[in-house]
Amino acid sequence: MFDILIKNANIDGKIVDIGIKDGIIKSLKPNIDESSKETIDAKDKIVMPSFCNMHTHAAMSLLKGIGQDLTLMDWLQKVIWPLEGRFVSKEFVKDGTTLAVAKMIKGGTTFFLDMYFFEEEVANVVEEAGIRAGIGFGILDFPTKVASTPKEYLERAKYFVETFKPSDYVIPVLCPHSVYTCSKDTLYSVLELSQKLDTYIHMHISETRKEVDGVIEKYSKYPLEYLDEIGILSDKFIGAHGVHLNDDEINIASQRKITIAHCPDSNLKLGSGIAPIWKYVKHGVRVALGTDGEASNDNLSMLEEVSIMTKLQKGYFEDSTAMPINIALDIATKNGFEAFNIKAGVLKEGYDADIIVINPNNDIANIPIYNEKALILYSLNESAIETTIARGKILYHKGEFKTIDIEKVKFNVKSWQEKIKNALT
Ligand SMILES: [Zn+2]
Repeated sequence: MFDILIKNANIDGKIVDIGIKDGIIKSLKPNIDESSKETIDAKDKIVMPSFCNMHTHAAMSLLKGIGQDLTLMDWLQKVIWPLEGRFVSKEFVKDGTTLAVAKMIKGGTTFFLDMYFFEEEVANVVEEAGIRAGIGFGILDFPTKVASTPKEYLERAKYFVETFKPSDYVIPVLCPHSVYTCSKDTLYSVLELSQKLDTYIHMHISETRKEVDGVIEKYSKYPLEYLDEIGILSDKFIGAHGVHLNDDEINIASQRKITIAHCPDSNLKLGSGIAPIWKYVKHGVRVALGTDGEASNDNLSMLEEVSIMTKLQKGYFEDSTAMPINIALDIATKNGFEAFNIKAGVLKEGYDADIIVINPNNDIANIPIYNEKALILYSLNESAIETTIARGKILYHKGEFKTIDIEKVKFNVKSWQEKIKNALT
């Protein structure tokens, strides 16, 4: 007996049933004749792998849309960091992350990669909600309310990794914030710790031209050359943004097998530029997709992100054949899971059942439908996502959250909104 049976799924033009048991796609073939605890009829619906959001700061959902029309540095230094200094606490992280996780589940995301503070809270929320996440405690050189010295940040990060290593839901990672907030010594310590604990490293890289210029001025090298010299780049390195990479750096990224977590919406809003990821892809760099935090996006919609991403590449290269549909969808789904060596993001027997079901039929905006993938990529609204399944567990179905008390989330967010609003006026 299956746990879930998805009937009549249209996979690349073939109608099949998907039998799920113990979190895994056990059978994928036409007309499965076996009983199941739950059955979902996907006739005239779209079944696809769930999304993998490869760069975010989930708790920052409580700061959604604060600070308009500022440079990245002004936005961080004058608006975000002072607010974080005042409000970030265990409760802030717990409530903000719960809000973000609810939005992600509703939007069909079942894995995210997070960098923030009080990450134990993030991990607890993830375990309770039943999704998966790569999670890391941000490491900086300058003092904040969570730590005073690089050594102290590293100790917190190490403690987090050791605590959550056995978790079935959490992949603990090390998160040096960036080249401009971490010294060479700090990065060497991160590298040493990552080797000792066998962890992934997640870091912001080359987000703005100003950042790149700063690295060149200080170290006489481009950021990826500098990081490569330290020895930190490997297939366990995920660099967020990577907007301004030159040809030598693209070669380094490809040779070291790093993953670039592309965040086009945030890069546009903060005026950071357009990462020419189609070029990266063609040079063999693994590219995945992230929304970044909601403070700079201002949503966590992977559907919107993948749409923006695809159109930007066609526009940037003045080539409508750039970034074809299947590659674009892989970047939003499979590539992120692959970066973490997770067997998901593909609808195939033996893969984790991280699946979404989309119902495009209730909205005239979606009709007529000639190509489901084109609909997903170019025009589908997130509200059409009807079911989100993470490792064989239904987390969201027809507007109902199965693992999150959404009324409580709304109540908590409202009270944070009032407090933060008062601080802004
Ligand atoms: Zn970020």
